[in-house]
Amino acid sequence: MSEGAPGLWAGRVARLATMHGKEAAIAPPLARLAGLEVRRATGVDTDALGTFTGEVPRAGTLHEAAEAKARLAMRAAGSDLGLASEGAYGPHPQIPFLASGVETLVLVDEARGLVLRETMEARRPVYDQVEAAGLAALEPFLARIGFPQQGVVVRPNRGGGSQRKGLRARAPLARAVEAAAAASPDGLAVVETDMRAHMNPTRMAAIAQLAERFATRLARACPSCGAPGWGVARPGPPLPCAWCGGETLARGGMVWGCAACGEEAAQDEARAIADPGQCPACNP
Ligand SMILES: [Zn+2]
Ligand SMILES: [Zn+2]
Repeated sequence: MSEGAPGLWAGRVARLATMHGKEAAIAPPLARLAGLEVRRATGVDTDALGTFTGEVPRAGTLHEAAEAKARLAMRAAGSDLGLASEGAYGPHPQIPFLASGVETLVLVDEARGLVLRETMEARRPVYDQVEAAGLAALEPFLARIGFPQQGVVVRPNRGGGSQRKGLRARAPLARAVEAAAAASPDGLAVVETDMRAHMNPTRMAAIAQLAERFATRLARACPSCGAPGWGVARPGPPLPCAWCGGETLARGGMVWGCAACGEEAAQDEARAIADPGQCPACNP
């Protein structure tokens, strides 16, 4: 494996589809760590592929959505290299009152016939919503989410109706809440965090962190075929229990892989056996 192999991306320009200023988070680490130049593709309506604010539901998986976006950028720019970022946020599947999120970056390299990606759980995402009849009741929520650096979206609680996005000042927020509450049969407006990257500083920071990780992957050549993108591919197999030898919930080190040739290798120092505390038989 050649760490930071020079020239893997020399002379290439990746076109990024974004309407939300993500190039500021993505381009610098890719240039610095992978030697890959990133430029925004103009004339791509990424919102047409689905939005965080709900007007256009997104189709397929997160990876599919990102890949479709990257291909749109390539087509718009007439390039053979397309890059896109996609994220999904919602209530935490296991822990009540907690939010969870995942961010992914996908690079489509038509010249090499390669699709590379990096995915990361967004830690402590700012994703929240509240129902309110007026601005006064909103103050604890606004303090919690970091308004006005964090933008909000407002819509009527019931009966559909239009929504206002990208609100980052109290006066327009108060007017939007009043209008949405008046339009809702129950007199309540829903106010939620705007999840678009330029309206959500925490999300933008998560994308920057993911871009660093992705850049490191892009700079690594496969030890077998030399293609870029050598890195974590999947978790290792379950480990046997130290007491009973049965399959446990613990896993060994991550398995690294190559998207071009399918080569795989256990990379991290893998433990051979698991603590019985993680065994469903010994510690049910
Ligand atoms: Zn390979
Ligand atoms: Zn056991």
